[in-house]
Amino acid sequence: MAGPTDETPAPPVRTDWRDDPAHLGERLRTAIDGARRSARPFALLCTAVRRLDTVVAALGHAAGRMLLARLAERLREGLGEHETLAPLAGDRLAVLAEGPAAANPWALAERLQALAGGPLRIDGAEVLVDLVVGIVAGNPRHATPQDVLDDALTALAWARTARGEPIVSYDDGRRRPAEETLKLESDLRRALAAEEFHIQVQPIVFLESGRIASWEALARWRHPLRGTVSPADFIPVAEQSGLVVPIGWQVLRRACAWAAGSTRRRRAGQVPISVNLSPRQVAEPDLVDRVRDALSTTGLEPRHLKLEITETSLMEDSRRGADALAALRTLGVAVCLDDFGTGYSSLHYLHRFPLQDLKIDRSFVSEVDRNPRNAAILSTIVTLGHGLGMDVVAEGIETEEQLAAVRRLGCDHGQGFLFSRPVDLDAADALDPIASLAPQS
Ligand code: C2E
Ligand code: MG
Ligand code: MG
Repeated sequence: MAGPTDETPAPPVRTDWRDDPAHLGERLRTAIDGARRSARPFALLCTAVRRLDTVVAALGHAAGRMLLARLAERLREGLGEHETLAPLAGDRLAVLAEGPAAANPWALAERLQALAGGPLRIDGAEVLVDLVVGIVAGNPRHATPQDVLDDALTALAWARTARGEPIVSYDDGRRRPAEETLKLESDLRRALAAEEFHIQVQPIVFLESGRIASWEALARWRHPLRGTVSPADFIPVAEQSGLVVPIGWQVLRRACAWAAGSTRRRRAGQVPISVNLSPRQVAEPDLVDRVRDALSTTGLEPRHLKLEITETSLMEDSRRGADALAALRTLGVAVCLDDFGTGYSSLHYLHRFPLQDLKIDRSFVSEVDRNPRNAAILSTIVTLGHGLGMDVVAEGIETEEQLAAVRRLGCDHGQGFLFSRPVDLDAADALDPIASLAPQS
């Protein structure tokens, strides 16, 4: 961002702020009255320096304080007579606009950024100041100064967390998704303690014979009020909050227990079970212990367990990922790369990590019979997988045409609604494991 550089010696820093928080409170009260009585617009902007923590970590807390004071001076010098600057707690500053600028607070926010822009010289170091700004326009919901401040600070929090959006206006609609995420998070925590997570299983078949090659365990949340919640809705929130780790271990134990029990009950040949692991679980230092523990407490043999991971797990800390996968291999557990084709689809990962199966993402399978480009990609993945000694699984087969296409292209295994939707464990137990699953067209 263009702006003045501070090559001149720093002037003494003013600490005697005229515009103190109490003064801001008074002005806000007057602004709220003015808006009520004579529809005079006002807006409050809260601003903060992006990555101030980095400056404090490098130069110390005093330097951080100095930076804020110098920044406040810069801003104050550029503000007009109807604009009040005030420091807030922590590293935040507020600007109340009551004059013409109140009608266009976005332009004022950009002006603040321009005023702040350009390096500041602090303690001999040049620091680039990059502002994030939260805006709220005065509105009839605002009864007290605190109401206004709360909304502006909320908008600032959004600006701080939203990538690529340094200026954010308060908007009621935006609050709802965040509130829902928080609610879901606390619900997940409760559900974990109440053991509300169950699994369904879906067969993966040999494409040649239609016989069941393995099962995939899929997490299901039976919410007491909302009914069954799809993992597509709760796994991303669980991933963000870290709850996916304990939920995932619960799923792993249940899946191993079912797989081991179903063999004993039916005295049938064992069919392996695949369990999805989140990137967070793969990064856990006790991953291998957890897996070993799930196997030994349930009596499932390691060769009857597969773990499905995605490329994200390998990207984040590839050294640790490589060690973990090697340790799982030593244990005798297979690892499968899920959703292949959606992420980086890096050849490096295929080459470097010991993977047994490659699962081609549903998005390629869904058009494979109609779109020659999809078929070409799929065929290349099959050649690649086979060349590296891996079995290739096509997921999301829904039609006979897709089945014919993935067979023709050389996939080894298939999974999809055409064979079976995910089913409850007792329904899976009722299936003859060596019978062929006829497509359910
Ligand atoms: P995934 O591991 O790729 O699982 C396959 C998903 O595709 C499942 O969705 C399955 O029901 C669905 N599916 C299978 N065949 C078809 C088909 O023919 N058509 C369509 N439209 N869909 C099909 P589900 O159960 O909703 O799971 C979604 C995702 O949630 C999973 O994708 C996986 O990434 C995640 N997930 C599920 N259970 C767990 C778990 O225990 N741990 C973790 N970390 N993630 C899980
Ligand atoms: Mg999977
Ligand atoms: Mg998948």
